[in-house]
Amino acid sequence: PDAGPGPAWQSKCPWGAPSTTSISCSLADVMSEQLAKELQLEEENAAFPEVVAAAEGPFITGENIDTSSDLMLAQMLQMEFDREYDAQLRREEKKINGDSKVSISFENYRKVHPYDSDSSEDEVDWQDTRHDPYRADKPTTTPRRGFIGKGKDITTKHDEVVCGRKNTARMENFAPEFQVGDGIGMDLKLSNQVFNALKQHAYSEERRSARLHEKKEHSTAEKAVDPKTRLLLYKMVNSGMLETITGCISTGKESVVFHAYGGNSATEDKIIPPECAIKVFKTTLNEFKNRDKYIKDDYRFKDRFSRLNPRKIIRMWAEKEMHNLTRMQNAGIPCPQVVILKKHVLVMSFIGQDQVPAPKLKDVTLSSEDMKKAYYQILNMMQQLYRECNLVHADLSEYNMLWHDGKVWLIDVSQSVEPTHPHGLKFLFRDCRNVSQFFQKGGVAEALNERELFNAVSGLNITADNEVDFQAEIEALEKVNEDHVQNHGKKLSTFSSDGDPPIYD
Ligand code: ADP
Ligand code: MN
Repeated sequence: PDAGPGPAWQSKCPWGAPSTTSISCSLADVMSEQLAKELQLEEENAAFPEVVAAAEGPFITGENIDTSSDLMLAQMLQMEFDREYDAQLRREEKKINGDSKVSISFENYRKVHPYDSDSSEDEVDWQDTRHDPYRADKPTTTPRRGFIGKGKDITTKHDEVVCGRKNTARMENFAPEFQVGDGIGMDLKLSNQVFNALKQHAYSEERRSARLHEKKEHSTAEKAVDPKTRLLLYKMVNSGMLETITGCISTGKESVVFHAYGGNSATEDKIIPPECAIKVFKTTLNEFKNRDKYIKDDYRFKDRFSRLNPRKIIRMWAEKEMHNLTRMQNAGIPCPQVVILKKHVLVMSFIGQDQVPAPKLKDVTLSSEDMKKAYYQILNMMQQLYRECNLVHADLSEYNMLWHDGKVWLIDVSQSVEPTHPHGLKFLFRDCRNVSQFFQKGGVAEALNERELFNAVSGLNITADNEVDFQAEIEALEKVNEDHVQNHGKKLSTFSSDGDPPIYD
């Protein structure tokens, strides 16, 4: 049979004619609805089963976005991708399970990434590292003579198993940041070759990370926040908790504060305030070193302090601010309301309006009437703080009080301590001095002097009429409390001024 009027080579080809590529079909086939449907289905299946609408990420827009870090951009993109992937997975899971009573979970197929470390890193945050459950026992060493055992049970130091185990145990000596996995806890045997390669790699990683770290430290000083923090902030926007982060309100020694518009997060069942302040505690550690004394001696944090690294201590500052704000909120003291805490980033309600923060008391000019009102309000707040919240602000001054809505708002309470803190009363006295001086200079005739204010706030009755004696009495009281701790292991929860038995915590 002739192949028809094909090209000349076709008939000459020694391997015969190629099969024609066009599908031969009859008129009946062409008209078949069945076939048409099948073809269409095939086409549809080839494409993505359900088109996922790319959610518009309302992230820090325009000029705010930092494009200098490729890694961060890549991570952000990955995060966006993963979110869509997970959403799709959820849809498919739902489709498969339908109304069935027994359901199949796709949980294990969800994306988990290492830098999105809410899960991975934080879990071990407060773990007692002195008792590491993963720590292997010391490897048994081979004796000097180079072998143990007798006869055919003899093992030499060249024994593969012994050697492999020893190598595994030696991995412990690598730099702590170097990830060696769970191998140490298992009966893993590393050959010399593998071990040596790993060792080499560990050393070069160490050098590389040292260089990198140095660079990062510098860039943190220049820009407001480091890439990790930016990623955290990005996540808050990405999750819908925040609408936009508009800009920086303040860059202090220890923190950077941003303004943001609140979003309407579906996951958090909290109502997000329309405007938020984001306080980012600085991860450059230098400034915090001098503040150790606040937290180290705070018995609430005492147990944890000794075994934490500096990065975690900074998170504790943020945590402390959150707890203290919550106490104040409960007592009805005007202060920012806590929205959420993520690592070293604290989100709270914004005191101010339309991106303009309320002025600090030091920057605002009040009428003498308002000044007097402010004074009595502060006196009241200091008493509430002491009695109801069991706190001393410890950095109270016209710098940390905002004037908003015709009243004073207290902020910046990360360093606040309980009155029984070893220096609690000293801190209180300092607060009193700042407040007294500010209002006396501000022309409030009724303002108590610092000693009177101290007694009025604490309910103590220190009678010394000069500063030196007064401070000596404060120190004596602090010492009594300290001795009590030494002897009884517990702190008095309040100083008793009227002969009541002490109340124990
Ligand atoms: P720092 O430890 O750097 O002093 P603060 O908590 O005092 O940190 O915040 C620094 C500045 O940021 C404040 O003086 C205030 O102007 C502004 N600020 C902080 N929190 C808020 C807030 N919730 N609302 C409005 N402004 C705030
Ligand atoms: Mn401050």
